[in-house]
Order: sequence, then C-alpha cells, then structure tokens
Amino acid sequence: MSDASGTTAPTAASRRGTAHEPRRVAILSGPAYRVTGTPERVTPELAAELARVLERFAEECGFDAARPAAIEFRPGVVGHHRVGRAADIYGVCGAGMDRWKSRWDEALAEAAELPAHMAPRRLERERQRNLGWRLYNALQRLGRWSRPAGYPTQLFGPWTRSDGPWVHISDRLLRAHRDHIHVAK
Ligand SMILES: [Zn+2]
Repeated sequence: MSDASGTTAPTAASRRGTAHEPRRVAILSGPAYRVTGTPERVTPELAAELARVLERFAEECGFDAARPAAIEFRPGVVGHHRVGRAADIYGVCGAGMDRWKSRWDEALAEAAELPAHMAPRRLERERQRNLGWRLYNALQRLGRWSRPAGYPTQLFGPWTRSDGPWVHISDRLLRAHRDHIHVAK
C-alpha cells in the first residue's frame, strides 16, 4: 500500500457496483438525532449502521427527542461514495468538525501548560463536551466499517492519527479529512 492510498481506489470500490447497482436509501433522522445538510443516498447497510451508531452517540451525550443532536452530512465523490457505501459528516450541533478539532487542540495545549495533577481533569472536561471528538469516538467504538483487503478500516477524520484506527494515516489523507469524518461500509 502506497503512502497516498488509504481510501480505496475508485476501481476497487466500484467493482461491486457495476454488475447490479446496489439499492440506495436516505440516511434518516432518529429519535435523539437529526440529519441535516445534504446527505447522499446510501446502501441500506450503511444507513442502518449510521442510524444505530448515531442514536447511541446522541443518547450517550444526553440528547433526546425534545432536543436532538444535529448531524450535518455532505456528499462525497470518490471511492466508496460512488456506490453509496460511504458518508461524510461535516458537523455536529452547528459547529464544523474543523472547529471541534481546533477546540480539542486548544484543550491539549492548555492541559500541557497546567500542573501535572490538573491536566487530566482539563482533558476529561474536553472529552465530555467536545461533540466532534465524541462522535468520532462513538463511530470508532461502536461502528462496524469496511476494511477492504490491503486497506485500513474505512474511518477517517481529524482524530485518526491520535485516536486510530489507522494511526499511520498519511499527511495527505489526514489533511483531506481535517474538516469531516468519512465512514464506509
Ligand atoms: Zn468521504
């Protein structure tokens, strides 16, 4: 695998779809979360996996039907997106993923300046309130994503290098996912 490849090549991803194009469905809102933005239509398997994980994420963060979490999707174009097997999440509750990541980085920098006994509490506070990180963490912890032969698990976002699953993500691929989370199934 070359340094540049991490997402599957369009040819590899679309091969499955050429014989008979898979059925596509909408990514639906759940009781505790609301889909916003312009989500693409995806395979029923991906839609179901997203619904399961997003609902768990929203419940864990204390959202409910009266106050649902807003999850912003935008369409992607390459690789698994071509066959409806991928989705890109750009924001949570009105803030972009890049904004959540800079808040995260600010918290790390602040913690590094604190006396050693105070740093863990500062980091724990950020883990509790940073909804971008919590969403990434939920997708990694609870999601069952595609892992094509010779490729890493198809979950990429601003936290991939620090949190995994593919800590060896290239600079190029990390940069490409600085403002959104990509998942494929
Ligand atoms: Zn994507």
